[in-house]
Amino acid sequence: MIKVLDKFIADKIAAGEVIERPVSAVKELVENSIDAGARSIIVEIRGGGKSYIRVTDDGSGIPAAEAETAFLRHATSKISGITDLDNITSLGFRGEALASIAAVSKLTMVTRTAETPAGVRLMLHGGRVISNETAGANTGTTIVIEDIFYNTPARRKFMGSDAREGSAIIELIEQYAICYSEIRFMMIRNGETIFSTSGNGDTLAAITKIYPDPDHAHLIPVTGDHVHGYISDPGTTRNTRKGQLFFVNGRLVSSQVIEKGLEKGYGGRIFSGFPIAVLFIEASPIDIDVNIHPGKREIKFLKADEIINDISAAVEAAMKMQEAVPAGIKEGHKPLTSSDLAEDVSYISERTLAESSGREEPVQKPVSQAVYTPQAESFSGEQSSVREYLMNLSRDDDRAHQTAQTDLPSGTRPVHQEVPSRPRPFEFDDLMYAGYIFNTYILMQTADAVYMFDQHAAHERVYYEKFVNAYSSSEQLPQPVLTPVTINVSADVYYTGREMLEPLHRMGFDISDFGAGSFIIRGVPSYVTQAEAVDFVRSYLEGADDTDAKNSKVIDKLIMKSCKSAIKGGEKLSELEIRKLINELAMCDNPYACPHGRPTFIRLTKYDIERSFRRK
Ligand code: ADP
Ligand code: MG
Repeated sequence: MIKVLDKFIADKIAAGEVIERPVSAVKELVENSIDAGARSIIVEIRGGGKSYIRVTDDGSGIPAAEAETAFLRHATSKISGITDLDNITSLGFRGEALASIAAVSKLTMVTRTAETPAGVRLMLHGGRVISNETAGANTGTTIVIEDIFYNTPARRKFMGSDAREGSAIIELIEQYAICYSEIRFMMIRNGETIFSTSGNGDTLAAITKIYPDPDHAHLIPVTGDHVHGYISDPGTTRNTRKGQLFFVNGRLVSSQVIEKGLEKGYGGRIFSGFPIAVLFIEASPIDIDVNIHPGKREIKFLKADEIINDISAAVEAAMKMQEAVPAGIKEGHKPLTSSDLAEDVSYISERTLAESSGREEPVQKPVSQAVYTPQAESFSGEQSSVREYLMNLSRDDDRAHQTAQTDLPSGTRPVHQEVPSRPRPFEFDDLMYAGYIFNTYILMQTADAVYMFDQHAAHERVYYEKFVNAYSSSEQLPQPVLTPVTINVSADVYYTGREMLEPLHRMGFDISDFGAGSFIIRGVPSYVTQAEAVDFVRSYLEGADDTDAKNSKVIDKLIMKSCKSAIKGGEKLSELEIRKLINELAMCDNPYACPHGRPTFIRLTKYDIERSFRRK
């Protein structure tokens, strides 16, 4: 029942949405359609929406007797009492949109409810009812807006070009189509269908339909208590936040709280830019305030910390998946089908097993077992462990394969049926050494992917965590060196460096001013060799010219120092050093990125490689 809100409640509602562009009108109409339970929404525009907008839905419709009431200010069927304001579950609630739109346009509404055989056609010009007549119509509502702002020349002047206004509308409908994947959306511009979605409820399908680029084809699912959605691996970023869509209880919002949770979850794995993220947050309406912004674009989380932690935990968990390792080949590919999977399983279980139990093939072994075995001089291990390893893998795949099939009626072969991607945790234990190229990149392989490690980035990460851990654990006793080492520096470094010794002491260096432009090191922390320590101290002192010696700055310096002291690309490592490096990396808190956020390793799936050779 559409009723005019009493003044007391109406005054509690934040200043109403201003219809300032065609897109603001479209937004209100589409939200009304969603609130009316539509399963299908068609949006048609001409002249960027300036000359013509039509929104057609198959929702509840409006009873003929209430049609005119809907256009009164503060007339709404969605809230009635003041307590409702604390518990808003609909997109609209102010009862102002239709009134505001009608006031600045020539508007026609045709609507019918399922209960009545005929509907009503209502026409308004500048908010004034021109005609109200019975009309044949489908159940649902169609609203046509012509010549928006025809009676407000000032607003008309501020509209952009047709192309600009039109794009804003298309972008809006794209966002709704993703958020409401269970609703069929169709976008028509100047008589041409721009896109349409299936409305089958598959969010990822809607995302890839709207954004048909490789970056969106590789999104990783995230799930938390309040959040679910899809995010990109940390190597796939955009220059702006445009790739980030946040929906809170079905409403597109911008939110620093969500941004913060996201950033925390990626935890320093972003080198530059903003990852792609389509996140749906469900929160109890009592815990959010949507009534703070006229466009409802900003909302307030009353339990912001809970939301931040939930998002960051969900993103962090997703970052531990194989798919979160930045891709080495960035080309769009079709999603895996179960027939692909079936092939993979047979490939692993039959061919590879046969090969590995066979003859001269150098047999490889998971690196975790190969490393730290003193007698292991090379990467060869026992065949049994390889077989065991492969069998485990193929068992794994069988299980996943079965799960994928369980939903299907018996007797149905799941050919061409799309299997939802099933992320698997990335495990260092699964890696087998596969080679070393350009004296820089270490290759490791699993059953279905090759991982390429950058020795410099990896070493930087290892050093960094060592330095940070040492720095933050207070008890760092220097190990005395046999012959104290003096470091001579230029006068400027000497004078600034003298002020910078305290953090070094905390890290476990016994270092002091030795006068005349020099320092003396009498002890070094147990976690570095003497040579490393001297390198580190020198580069530390040389970078010590800025005066902010406080904690966070020290961490920044540690980043710089770990970078300087780490082995460089092109410095050839022995197999033993490689193994040590990968193992140390595996033990890091965040093995995936160097302290600057560059990836320490990337992933090339067998599938990507086969695609490159046109085998798939
Ligand atoms: P609000 O959405 O804030 O309630 P509006 O001015 O947008 O205010 O709409 C007023 C009322 O008109 C709504 O509360 C609803 O009852 C009715 N209405 C508007 N659009 C539709 C639609 N597409 N289908 C069914 N009812 C609608
Ligand atoms: Mg509304």
